[in-house]
Amino acid sequence: MSNDVPNPVAEGKPAAIVGTGADAASGRAAGRPYPVVPLYGVPFAKMDMRQTVEYLVRAVESRRTHRVVTGNPIMVMAGLRDPSFHRVLATADLVVPDGAGIVWAARRVGDPLPERVAGYDLMHELLREGAARGWKAYLLGAAQDVVETAAANLARQYPGIHIVGWRNGYFSDAEDEQVVEDIRRCAPDLLFVARSLAKQEPWLAKYRDRLGVPVMMGVGGSFDVVAGKLKRAPVSFRRLGLEWLYRLLQEPRRIGRMTVLPVFALKVLRDGKNALWPIDTV
Ligand code: UDP
Repeated sequence: MSNDVPNPVAEGKPAAIVGTGADAASGRAAGRPYPVVPLYGVPFAKMDMRQTVEYLVRAVESRRTHRVVTGNPIMVMAGLRDPSFHRVLATADLVVPDGAGIVWAARRVGDPLPERVAGYDLMHELLREGAARGWKAYLLGAAQDVVETAAANLARQYPGIHIVGWRNGYFSDAEDEQVVEDIRRCAPDLLFVARSLAKQEPWLAKYRDRLGVPVMMGVGGSFDVVAGKLKRAPVSFRRLGLEWLYRLLQEPRRIGRMTVLPVFALKVLRDGKNALWPIDTV
């Protein structure tokens, strides 16, 4: 499955270049000012929720563009099958460990991450910080009634935030130009994109520079939860790392994509430290 993407570790590149494990974790070779766990070449940030929020608050304050990926095993596996999707993940400005499977894998290969940083929680943390600072947010994605309700609910929950724009996620490539222009005109500090994983990440990568938003982040099904259409897993499920199971029970159609989870686990068990690829050579 990983054959499409070369693994420089397996190819026996010198340790100084390869830099697996702790030394690769510095992440500085790839210009990142924070340490990473380079799981199959995807640079998962070694920061807990508090550090991640502080880092992104600074990003907004300094007006530097950040494309944030909330990474999970399904995305890593998709990257191993599709080199262009892998590039989208590997070149993100920040990848947070959204999936419990990622936290497990990092521990298993001996380069642990501090904690799971769930995209849904990170979105709320950023809105909370933004509310105290009068930031502007733009919501892109989900069905029209869902994004409208999500915008209204978030505006009520975070009165200091200006929701400057929203748009549903069902538009064609030919409409990209108009969507990008609308976001540019609104000049938000935060842009949350809730389309499917296969769409939102390549779309953000393609338009990152033109959008120029300080923090832009794919949030998957989060607007459905904010709008009350789907329920977030109870804390008990989250503590056990079973948020995916709760989601599966609500949306059984997700079973197909979840079959990659045991494949990912077996691959990590088999690869061990070889699951850590250098981030500066991908
Ligand atoms: N979605 C969208 N445009 C699309 C496909 C999906 O806006 O072309 C929205 C969908 O309405 C939902 C969210 O993206 O709110 C997540 O969809 P799904 O669960 O299918 O994607 P996943 O995150 O599992 O890839």
